[in-house]
Formats: sequence, structure tokens, C-alpha cells
Amino acid sequence: MKWGIDLGGTKIEGVILADDGSIVDRRRIATEREGGYDHIVSRIALLVEEMKQGTGLIPEKIGIGTPGTIDPPTGLMKNSNTTVLNGQPLGKDLSAKIGVPLTLANDANCFAVAETLMGAVPLHAPTAKVVFGVILGTGTGGGLVVDGQILGGAQGIGGEWGHMFLDNSGGYCYCGRVGCAERILAGPSLEKYYANISGRSLSMKEIVPRYRAGNDPAATATMERWFHFFAKGISTIINVIDPDVIILGGGLGNIDELYTRAVPQVVNHLFNPRMDTLFLKPELGDSAGVFGAALL
Ligand SMILES: [Zn+2]
Repeated sequence: MKWGIDLGGTKIEGVILADDGSIVDRRRIATEREGGYDHIVSRIALLVEEMKQGTGLIPEKIGIGTPGTIDPPTGLMKNSNTTVLNGQPLGKDLSAKIGVPLTLANDANCFAVAETLMGAVPLHAPTAKVVFGVILGTGTGGGLVVDGQILGGAQGIGGEWGHMFLDNSGGYCYCGRVGCAERILAGPSLEKYYANISGRSLSMKEIVPRYRAGNDPAATATMERWFHFFAKGISTIINVIDPDVIILGGGLGNIDELYTRAVPQVVNHLFNPRMDTLFLKPELGDSAGVFGAALL
């Protein structure tokens, strides 16, 4: 049995998978960032307790997906948008409370490994060796999987393309730098750009249909700028690691024009006359994070 926990901003989800990948147990518990660090630790421990009580099973070890990542030399959390986690020894505190060995990984890495082992890759590209999983939603993240294993990196920041420099027009980022990919490609950044040029505050759910209708120049400009910079940003990943497959996840990853309008522009920025990289939609939906945690 594989036990996984996915820590989100408003909920914590737990799953127990059998060796054949079938779900033995799955449950959720509410949490709130505002409750602080101790609250989050005790909610995770409570969820594990409920899973034990509910199934009569005892975990030998547990995989935990988190926003942010563990800094390898210090064991402290960093880069989490749930900022109360940053600087905290989450792995140590949780394992003291739960009493079993834990493996923690960034949630984008969990997404990437789940889609590689259980989702889009076995279905559409079973021979792929190198997979880059992209999260495009309220943030911009990524995870790199090589031969079925997460490539976390020496500093724990492997795959974090959201905070590489893309263009000055993105402005200041919460990470302290200017022009990060996240500031141009993530949903809130697109909504902000649209509001700046149109004077109207609309969500991506409203902007995308206006772009498709073709009668809102600001929606057209917002989406075309997105396609241009997505192609530019992702081409850097391909030029460096040349993955077999790129999976586009997160709330914006299912927008069809990303595949039909943005992906064809990637070749313009590539050190290759053609682009053979296979771009896939995710297959596991919301389950990828918690399945990935279990696979850790
Ligand atoms: Zn940044």
C-alpha cells in the first residue's frame, strides 16, 4: 500500500493506493493558511489518524506533496506560497507527530510523477524517458521526471521555470525579482494585463470566451501575448533538457488554444529546425497531486 497526502491552501487530501494503482481509501480535510503553521501540522496528523481509523491500516511510510520545497542542506521549507510554511522544519515536525518516515516533495513534482507513471504518459507516450510537467494556474510551476524519478535538483529547485526571467513587462514578483515567467504566464498575471489595457476587471473564465468571439481587442491582445511568451518560456526548457513529453496541467493547461496557437510558435525559439516535443493534456485531473505524493 502507498500512502500519499497532498497539502493545498484550503484542503488536505489523503489517499491509500494498492500496488495495482487502485484506490483503497481517499479522504479530505479542510485547512486554512491563516490558521498558521501548527494548525497545518496538526490537520495533516489528524487526517492520517482518520485514514488509519477508517481502514484499520498502518502506514510504513508516507509521501507528502506540499506547496514549496524542502531546502536540502537545512531541511527547512522554502519557496511556498503558503508562506507560513517557509523556514519551518515541516518534515521533521510531521514525522515526530505521525511517527513514520516521510518523503516530502513539491506539488508540481508530484503532478509530474503521477502523470508520468499513472496518467498521460503511459496512455500516449509509454516509451518517454524525460517528462516535464507544467502547472499553469494561479501560479507557474513545473516538475522534471527522468526514467520515472523526480529530478529535484541539488538545491531542490529542479523544474522551477516559473521564476526564470522571461520579460521585464511582467514587473515585480513576490520572490523579489523582476520579470519572472509566473508574472506573465499565470492566471492572475493575465487578468491584470487585461485589466490594464481594457480598464475592466475580468477573470480568465470571462476573457477566454471573449477572445474566441473575436470582438474584444483587449482579450485578443492578452491571449496572443500569453501564447507568445509561453512559447518563448517553454522553448528554454526544451533547449536545455529536450524532454520527450511536456504535460500542461493547472487551471489554464486545458485551454485548447495553448496547443493550437502557442505550441506551434515554440519552434521560432528553438535550436532546431522542427519541434518534435509531444505536448499532452493531463489525464488524472485533480487526483494527480495526491497520487504523486503516494508514488513518492
Ligand atoms: Zn519570481
